[in-house]
Amino acid sequence: MSTTAPTPTHQTIPNPNVDFDAIVIGAGFGGLRMLHELRQLGVSTRVIEAGTNVGGTWYWNRYPGARTDSESWVYAFSFSKELQDDWNWSEKYPSWSEALAYLQHVADRFDMRKDIQFETRVIAANYDEVAKVWRVTTDDGETQSCRYLISATGPLSTPYKPDFAGIDTFKGDWYLTGRWPKEEVDFTGKRVSIIGTGATAVQVIPLVAQTAAHLTVFQRTPNYVMPARNAPMTEFELKSIRANYDRIWELAREHVFGFALEPAGRNGADVSPEEAQRILERHWEIGGFRFLFETFDDILINEDTNKLVANFIRNKIRSIVKDPKTAELLCPTCHPVAGRRPPLGHFYYETFNRDNVSLVDVKDDPITEITERGIRTASEEYAADVIIFATGFDAVTGTLNAMNVRGRGGAALEQKWEGGPQTYLGITVDEFPNLFMVGGPQSPFANIPVVIDGCVDWIGRAIRHLRDNELTTMEANADAVAKWGVHMNDLVNATLMHQAKRSWFMGDNIPGKAHAVLFYFGGAGNYRKECLGAAERDFEGFTVG
Ligand code: NAP
Repeated sequence: MSTTAPTPTHQTIPNPNVDFDAIVIGAGFGGLRMLHELRQLGVSTRVIEAGTNVGGTWYWNRYPGARTDSESWVYAFSFSKELQDDWNWSEKYPSWSEALAYLQHVADRFDMRKDIQFETRVIAANYDEVAKVWRVTTDDGETQSCRYLISATGPLSTPYKPDFAGIDTFKGDWYLTGRWPKEEVDFTGKRVSIIGTGATAVQVIPLVAQTAAHLTVFQRTPNYVMPARNAPMTEFELKSIRANYDRIWELAREHVFGFALEPAGRNGADVSPEEAQRILERHWEIGGFRFLFETFDDILINEDTNKLVANFIRNKIRSIVKDPKTAELLCPTCHPVAGRRPPLGHFYYETFNRDNVSLVDVKDDPITEITERGIRTASEEYAADVIIFATGFDAVTGTLNAMNVRGRGGAALEQKWEGGPQTYLGITVDEFPNLFMVGGPQSPFANIPVVIDGCVDWIGRAIRHLRDNELTTMEANADAVAKWGVHMNDLVNATLMHQAKRSWFMGDNIPGKAHAVLFYFGGAGNYRKECLGAAERDFEGFTVG
């Protein structure tokens, strides 16, 4: 294996006023991609990472069954042909350990670790207006300065655990999926309870059911779970993917959700009801997000097409789950298909046919407390030896808000975002000069490597622009930020997504969190064009100086 560090396209210019030109927070997909870009620019960089290793989401979310929901060949970096050629994915949807091994391989292959400070958490970042530098304080008591502060903390990095009374009295063990221990957890012979039925729980449930004495699933809102249809990658597939990578990335960059897929080329109303069923049936067998994106192009915008697909999935649930009462409880009725992020399942519905699995509906009988013995709802107590909280994340803004970031005049990011995030392009914030975000709020919800690539490319252009013009700072204008916010609402309101209740896309999953659209829902391709447009129009919407 060769360790090819990229050749900088610019010479590093030592800056005596700062410890590093750039500090990047996080060493997951976003942080590693950003580090690579900055090195190419010759920008001295320190990456600060809380974990003991690279990996981000795959470092923390090592729960049983965790695996990607994106097809492996587009859940990867596109910046190096050699990297594409030397990595072999073993499965269509790699497990967390394979995704983590990939990111570790990237860190080693490009000799990135020397620029990463592990086991260190950023606890504050203050902008010094006089020196025009950021001062970043970490939990080891150190403060380091930089010209550019770049967050790559990921949209799902602060797990959420409901504040149930009595958790301290519980005599068994409990786990939070987003902070799963490194040691293997053995469920053999145990009564396990899991709270949640989102994308995480949908992956955990079939795995834990295999060894637990009994698994009780506490469901508040059912989701539309589509079969993933995971399979090993064959030599032939790997070869043809490698041969077509240029086209694959071209497609992924244009696709609404960043996948290497062509539009279906038809809407629900274009075909007869019988043909619609055949199309849906065929794609249900193919599996994954292809079921959504290769069937009809108007699922997210047309109520009739959405209902057609919703009915199809409900009928599938009824045909798979043998107990009719359980099947009905698993049928979603409160939101449109893809109104909330649809999970991919690996024999999810089939798991409810096992004798050792039961479903508890807590929609109208909510969990009221954790007791010594288990979980109590308003009407009953359920005994458990182990409780798993698969209860989601304080998504997108949670980690940034907790970092105590202060910009010009001491403006606090958390306070500024009390009513929801305010950004321009999902990358910059007014009052926060030279703060850039990779995959930040109001950037697209899509296959994350594609989103990251667009953001990193843009940040690279911004830094190059500053340097080539001997400028020091770039700050979004308040009116550009306000317009971007209106644009976010217009985009989501043009889809059926705004109808979804308690969606983490809107911050509604966290009690007390502001209801605000957290993503750009205009498509990854359009987003890239909007960002490039602003850069090409001489960084329109920014004040540089
Ligand atoms: P989530 O979708 O927010 O689901 C959290 C679950 O916990 C929901 O079922 C929620 O019920 C339930 N819950 C929360 N508080 C509760 C309470 N007090 N009582 C009962 N139930 C409660 O979180 P997630 O499953 O971790 O998924 C979040 C996102 O992570 C996904 O949408 C996806 O984007 C990403 N993810 C990706 C992958 C992958 O790509 N492989 C895998 C896993 C997750 P309600 O629905 O009623 O609120």
